[in-house]
Amino acid sequence: MNNLEITRLVRPMVRDIAPYRSARDEFEDFEAQKIFLDANENPYNTDANRYPDPLQRQLKRVLAKVKGVSDNQILLGNGSDEVLDLIFRTFCEPGHDEVILLPPTYGMYGVLAQLNNVKAVDVPLDENFQLDVAAIMSSVNEKTKLIFVCSPNNPSGNAIPLSQIQSLLEQFSGLVVVDEAYIDFSEGGTAIHFLDEYPRLIICQTFSKAYGLAGIRLGIGFAHSAIIQFFNKIKPPYNINVLTQKKALAALNVTDIVERQVRALIGERQKMEEELLSIRFVKKIYPSDANFLLVLVDDAQKRYNQFLEQGIVVRSRSSLLGCEHTLRITVGTPQENITFINACKTIDQ
Ligand SMILES: *Cc1c(COP(=O)(O)O)cnc(C)c1O
Repeated sequence: MNNLEITRLVRPMVRDIAPYRSARDEFEDFEAQKIFLDANENPYNTDANRYPDPLQRQLKRVLAKVKGVSDNQILLGNGSDEVLDLIFRTFCEPGHDEVILLPPTYGMYGVLAQLNNVKAVDVPLDENFQLDVAAIMSSVNEKTKLIFVCSPNNPSGNAIPLSQIQSLLEQFSGLVVVDEAYIDFSEGGTAIHFLDEYPRLIICQTFSKAYGLAGIRLGIGFAHSAIIQFFNKIKPPYNINVLTQKKALAALNVTDIVERQVRALIGERQKMEEELLSIRFVKKIYPSDANFLLVLVDDAQKRYNQFLEQGIVVRSRSSLLGCEHTLRITVGTPQENITFINACKTIDQ
């Protein structure tokens, strides 16, 4: 696999387009002590009066160290949503190319496929929410550009074994996108160390879950540097704002806090699972490698409304394939979880 083979998978328009060049692309060393009269900014300091670095170099340097990759293997997006959208727009020709989705899974892949006029072929996960690699491979055709694997999967919570992801990468000649939004809560471990071996792998992570920064909208794509170059070519120039970059840098300096919170949340998840076992309307709790539990109940709509009456908002996932009568419950603080379990007991009378 070389850069040429990646280029072969890219849309012709993306290969050929001349990117917009911003002031900060013309003169890159914006940390230099210069007088900047090139970008029509207001010169008076507000902490955000200057345009951000289009390539977020300082943040990527730190993130690369934390994640054990090179700076040029990283894309940052306005949430994973933007990273996922850029993947579609880089590789999928509207009205022609196809992608494979593995329901029940994260709804955004299907929405983005539709938005980009790309046909999404569904290959359901099995009854344990695991991949059926043979079924996936038999749905691949010459138009199939991407396969989306969510691990740990939302809404089911289970991780997909790395061996299965590897098996897809070995057999499929397009790109495999592994969405690891919940990877910090999983024992299974990240696919990041496959990147050097498999240049057609793209991994998505996010600051929205374990890092506790859903509000700053920061998603991460990890991929071969040749892929990242194409993303950089077509992304909005200033997609990550100054405040977001600062906040993310600060968070990466205190990763021990995040690690402590993750351990606590996993403990709380296990406690919640044990408590739910004694609730009669709970029929099944699916194994989780994430910070939520998918729970099969007797009547999802009824229980949803009862929780709401108790002041607790959960998510019904009943409309998703294979998730009839399920609720998805996020692990909260210890106090919130106690309140939730007490509400379960009250409702269960
Ligand atoms: C929450 C979540 C994300 C995060 O999306 P952001 O846009 O980064 O907030 C991505 N993928 C999955 C599967 C998720 O559940």
